[in-house]
Amino acid sequence: MQSKMFIGGEFVDALDGATIDVFDPHDGSLLASVAEAKEADIDRAVEAATAAKHGWARLAAADRGRLLLRLADAIEADADNLAMIETRDTGHPIRDTRNLDVMRTAATFRYFGGMADKFQGSVVPVEAGFLDYVTPEPLGVVGQIVPWNFPVMFCSWKMGPALAAGNTVVMKPAELTPMSALRIAELMAEVGFPAGVVNILPGYGNTAGQRIVEHPGIAKVSFTGSTPVGKSVARGAADTLKQVHLELGGKGANIVFEDANIPAAVGGTAFGIFHNQGQACIAASRLIIHESVVDEFLERFLALAASIKLGDPKDPTTEMGPLTSTMHRDRVLSYIEVAKSEGGEILLGGKAPSDPELANGCYIEPTVVRTDASSRVACEEVFGPFMTLHTFRTDGEALAIANSVDYGLGGGLWTNNLTRAHKIARELHAGMVWINSYKRVNPGSPFGGMGVSGYGREMGFEAMREYTEPKAIWVNIDAAIPPFYPRGA
Ligand code: NAD
Repeated sequence: MQSKMFIGGEFVDALDGATIDVFDPHDGSLLASVAEAKEADIDRAVEAATAAKHGWARLAAADRGRLLLRLADAIEADADNLAMIETRDTGHPIRDTRNLDVMRTAATFRYFGGMADKFQGSVVPVEAGFLDYVTPEPLGVVGQIVPWNFPVMFCSWKMGPALAAGNTVVMKPAELTPMSALRIAELMAEVGFPAGVVNILPGYGNTAGQRIVEHPGIAKVSFTGSTPVGKSVARGAADTLKQVHLELGGKGANIVFEDANIPAAVGGTAFGIFHNQGQACIAASRLIIHESVVDEFLERFLALAASIKLGDPKDPTTEMGPLTSTMHRDRVLSYIEVAKSEGGEILLGGKAPSDPELANGCYIEPTVVRTDASSRVACEEVFGPFMTLHTFRTDGEALAIANSVDYGLGGGLWTNNLTRAHKIARELHAGMVWINSYKRVNPGSPFGGMGVSGYGREMGFEAMREYTEPKAIWVNIDAAIPPFYPRGA
């Protein structure tokens, strides 16, 4: 596994030789010691990205696209290896990293590879005699900071549109999970990305991350992570008037109405909350269900959740792996204590599994808690296999519970009533809503949140707009302009 940082087309050690130890969350063993970027390393990377930016921006868009398409092919060819790297680093089951994360990474790079020469400007009908054309210009060097929950996928969400639009990149993976991003760097070098166009530097937030936020040579910072850190990123970027894009936390509402297809809602809800051990910003963390169907739903749901196979994520039959770090496992366990202290009723799980083979790993059983919608565990992001349950009688009550948190990222609803479905979808305070489904993502569909879930969007044309700014160029063809100061004419 690659353990050096990628700067100016080369894999190098940190200037001061520092390293970060990266652990396997299944058994706590040391996976790798990777080069740790500090401020001076970020400065080196910004220099390399600055040197590369003009050439990259002026390359034909189709040629930038071709490199992204080649990268997508290289990722698919390397899928078994890349998926295993991701599994060992994050604890995601191999069936998911192999079939979902890595495939989606390739698909997203491919989408933006195809987009590169299709994202175009416009001609504005201005006054007679003038041609006014508007081109989407890249911003220059962009900084990208990502969390540890879907590290390989986030490489494509962030770098795909930034590179397609003609920017060069300095990206910092999370200190806990840098391995797949370094493998992507190797593949980028192999398929021929010019030196300096992409620079990938593992490091901690308060050193490397902070330097990206404050560096005067960086035009924009795109940040995915927690809401408190997102706020500090916005503050830190203000001094250099950097553009900021924030993808922050969530507390997904998942509403099941009395007319829903219950078996479908049960399956969709389980995927919504337990996939990736619940470590997803769009996780279906709050089940809001009509009181007349709660018993039927719970009977099926608790049986399904109890049947989920926890275990070594490298085993292809494992359905749920460990959480990604010991610290995070302890944080989720502490929320279970909060739930109990708030009078929550633990309907399932609520503890680490008793299997001695999992004793050294960061495992938590699928957990369901019936609790008040205003309790802390129902309002704060837990980010684990932890779902709260709330019941309602009227559509208005369901909506009020759903919209009672400050977050506004993803939300879902299950009903066979067409009018109700569209009405509730429109009223939900969320950037993404799934009707009779949950947690669908696609490179073409804008991804992002409202409220304290952040601003700006990943994916689709919206992402290309994030990484460009319109430039209006006026050409006087044959305009008759009367002199403004006639006496001097
Ligand atoms: P985090 O905010 O602690 O860290 C995210 C990244 O920011 C890491 O790379 C970290 O090193 C860096 N960082 C930390 N402090 C920094 C600072 N002061 N300046 C600059 N960078 C800094 O978040 P996390 O615990 O790694 O990830 C979980 C959070 O991410 C959850 O809140 C989750 O909802 C959110 N998330 C959001 C989305 C989305 O698209 N909206 C997607 C995935 C995860």
